[in-house]
Amino acid sequence: MQHSTRYTPQNWSRRRFLASAGTAPVAGLLATGCAPPAPAPAETAEAVDVYGRLGVQPFINAAGTYTALTASLVPAEVRTAMAAASQQYVALAELHAAAGGRIAGLVGAEAALVTSGAAAALTQATAACVCGTDQDAIRQVPDTTGLKNQVVIQRSHRFGYDHAIRNVGIELVEVETRAELEAAIGDDTAMLFYLNSATNQGQISREEFAEVGQTAGVPTLIDAAADVPPVDNLRTFTRMGFSLVAFSGGKGLRGPQCSGLLLGRRDLVDAAYLNGSPHGNSIARIAKVGKEEIVGLTRAVELYVEKDHEAEWADWEARVQAIVDAVAGIPSVEAEQFVPELANMVPHAGITWDPERIPLMRSDVAEALRDGEPRIEPRPGPADAPRLDIGVWMMQPGDHEVVAARIAEILSAAAA
Ligand SMILES: *Cc1c(COP(=O)(O)O)cnc(C)c1O
Repeated sequence: MQHSTRYTPQNWSRRRFLASAGTAPVAGLLATGCAPPAPAPAETAEAVDVYGRLGVQPFINAAGTYTALTASLVPAEVRTAMAAASQQYVALAELHAAAGGRIAGLVGAEAALVTSGAAAALTQATAACVCGTDQDAIRQVPDTTGLKNQVVIQRSHRFGYDHAIRNVGIELVEVETRAELEAAIGDDTAMLFYLNSATNQGQISREEFAEVGQTAGVPTLIDAAADVPPVDNLRTFTRMGFSLVAFSGGKGLRGPQCSGLLLGRRDLVDAAYLNGSPHGNSIARIAKVGKEEIVGLTRAVELYVEKDHEAEWADWEARVQAIVDAVAGIPSVEAEQFVPELANMVPHAGITWDPERIPLMRSDVAEALRDGEPRIEPRPGPADAPRLDIGVWMMQPGDHEVVAARIAEILSAAAA
């Protein structure tokens, strides 16, 4: 485990001097003797301490795929693909079409579009349903005068990212029952929206929701951003009858951070493309996705559908078990594996204790983990609970041992 050096102004200026001395032409002029100066070391990803140079200290991700924590790390193959993509010019339209075709084939969808994230996929999907391929409408939104301007959503499915839908200038119409959903559909209805992670909070099931849309001839969109694994989910929702499905590229798929996926009906995916980059006068031009991300996500999806998911699951379980074992003997501590029912459906460690015996709350333990060396970032949760949750699936090999030892140390030290 390599620990990064903490940033100080002293080591920064020294390092900066050393870094520039190696490459400046003057170094060659000053060298004496016959031998030419040694070439600067190659800038491999391992050799360049990008975060240290900025004074930003990385941490062990014991949380999961949280955007604010930079979510996931790409596999080496994706990193290589992105670097290769960055070295040649291509027509973005040709690349979008080819990558979309490849991904659609891999996941059994009619069509696919690489976006800059799941949020961008929501905006482009909504724009597709409001504007279609009509150039005047594409230029006009978010002014929806004369266009279909309503999206129907279950009240319990309202969430922060619905801003990505509202960006298109539509009005969200809230319903609770199937009867209300059917009654809400009219001439102004552009789309029906479903949030997969809120499946257990609404009265209308996914299957019913997709069916109502099909019967009424209104497109349906499901946000499944954080819902792979399981890998089958890449196919489940289009099969279920949803017109469009949005996934994050930078979460479970382990693609580039600024990538996402819109899957579904060809006419709507084509329209979504026209409502975004590289089309300058479109609502989602602000969500540009570059050649590096398009190639990177395509490679990530190839790797993801091919990988041994059972072996990966067993590895996650072994990591959880190591953490559970490490805290087993500490007074009042109970630990077990849990798998969230929706979103991030992977093995986690859940650790609880009696606050009378160990006078700490989650926020205290989290702070101690953050302040240690190396830094560790646990899964967020209620600050005032005698409980700590640990996500193991975004860890690097060996991280779980460091995390297990550190949690055991913190809890033991406070145990009465
Ligand atoms: C993470 C997330 C998003 C946003 O995904 P990005 O890929 O970061 O744009 C949208 N919806 C849900 C449910 C999410 O979990």
